[in-house]
Amino acid sequence: MSGVRTTPLEEWAAKRIGAGKAGITREQLARHQLLRLRATIGWALETSPFYRSRLAGCAAAEIACPGDLGRLPFTTADDVRRWGPRFLCVSQSDVSRVVTLDSSGTTGQAKRFYFTPADQEGTVDFFQYGMASLTDKGDRVLILLPGERPGGVGDLLAAALRRLGVRPVPHGMVVSIPDTLAVMAAEKIDTLVGIPSQVLALARWADSNGPAVSVKSILLSTDHVPRAIVRELERVWGCEVFEHYGMTELGLGGGTDCAAHAGYHLHEADFYFEVVDPESGAPVPEGGEGEVVVTTLTRRGMPLIRYRTGDISRMIPGRCPCGSVLRRLAPVARRRDGLISLGGYGGFSLADLDEALFAVPGLIGFTAAVDRFSHAARLTIAASLLPGAAGKHGSGLAAVLDAVPAIRLARQAGALSVAAAVETCRGRLEAGAAKRAIVELS
Ligand SMILES: [Zn+2]
Repeated sequence: MSGVRTTPLEEWAAKRIGAGKAGITREQLARHQLLRLRATIGWALETSPFYRSRLAGCAAAEIACPGDLGRLPFTTADDVRRWGPRFLCVSQSDVSRVVTLDSSGTTGQAKRFYFTPADQEGTVDFFQYGMASLTDKGDRVLILLPGERPGGVGDLLAAALRRLGVRPVPHGMVVSIPDTLAVMAAEKIDTLVGIPSQVLALARWADSNGPAVSVKSILLSTDHVPRAIVRELERVWGCEVFEHYGMTELGLGGGTDCAAHAGYHLHEADFYFEVVDPESGAPVPEGGEGEVVVTTLTRRGMPLIRYRTGDISRMIPGRCPCGSVLRRLAPVARRRDGLISLGGYGGFSLADLDEALFAVPGLIGFTAAVDRFSHAARLTIAASLLPGAAGKHGSGLAAVLDAVPAIRLARQAGALSVAAAVETCRGRLEAGAAKRAIVELS
């Protein structure tokens, strides 16, 4: 064994499947998943008008191994928008929380997800074990996430931390960087939980303006996590940076990395994950890149069966250095529709821009937009830099993007122009928890 502490999620999974503390095997997990897949499909067929229609002709008993799940149709975000409450397997009075997400998509309607008290308890339980990776009893954790309201993400995380004997300090999204840093100093914060770009802004501001705060560990969540941001947080604070993979659809908890920082250990007692070809829907070979598809195994209110997440990633083959049998998902490379094509020169994603731009000293955030003309495309970056950095590094931003091969090739061939507008950050951040994306103007 490498000496890396086994992820606490393994103990959590053993508890969830009733395997005791002796450790679990892949066989035990697979058996649990098969039983829960059948139970979920049976429950959905029996109680949900949407699934009764969508899964007509499918029987739970036909699932002889998890791979048989591939015979069932997918569920999509558009299904959730269109059919909403028809997904429900319980009465509205059994629902303790409804989460409404963006109203984008082809129908223009919002997505609504319904959770029962037991569903929410499952999330708190997962958060408790996930946070045990990076906190110790008596620590103080600043929660830089929305949802301080009862049942919101901040509230569920706070409940999980209290069970660990850790003190949660709910804060919400960062609006004023100096104010949040002052809270960190006054509350003697050990750990931050927040969105990558917001935590980066705190670190860079503290590094150049003070006050001196020390941070032991950080959990980055909600958005994909650029390596450039992790490196900078480690440099500024000398802290350990963990990452969480989750989404509202999953009841927030999908997976968390361990002390080996070698991919997200998946929440396999409560979810069955597949990776499929985004075009054909066929499973990709183990380790291949594709779209992440999730089936909930224990959800009562609104189970999801083969739900297409839109996240492009891959499973990491082999056993983790921490020794856990839980499978690991690699960081999300991009969204399914998040690749900007530059024709014969290739394509680029927001993750490519993130790696190049967040490596620029003093940069704390940016937006990106693409215009297309008949003969060429234009990429426009609007970046926010700290005072002092704007003058020094602002003029070089367009050149920095040459680190992305498709951008460099298209620019050299005259098929792409890159323009960057720079503003100086005075300490305020744009609030908003929405997932970032490259805007396509035409
Ligand atoms: Zn591990």
